Amino acid sequence: MIVDKKIVSLRKRLVARICGSAFAFTKNTSEKDPLNYYIAHCQKHGCYLDHARGYYGKLTCPECLKERTERILHEENEGSNL
Ligand SMILES: [Zn+2]
Repeated sequence: MIVDKKIVSLRKRLVARICGSAFAFTKNTSEKDPLNYYIAHCQKHGCYLDHARGYYGKLTCPECLKERTERILHEENEGSNL
């Protein structure tokens, strides 16, 4: 989720910008492994909070993901009209 930069410390924002992400907190889940959440920075949308996904622990900006999904759906809808 996109987070207001006012609630993220300057140090974490700088680390996220320079290194790509900064550890935020660990959340215990019903599954075996707890989830680590990170603050990351998107050039277009600013700071966001996400947990590492997949083998490479990729973080994804939710707004960029939403835009990409809408674009794909839009392209599919245009294609179905042909
Ligand atoms: Zn983004």
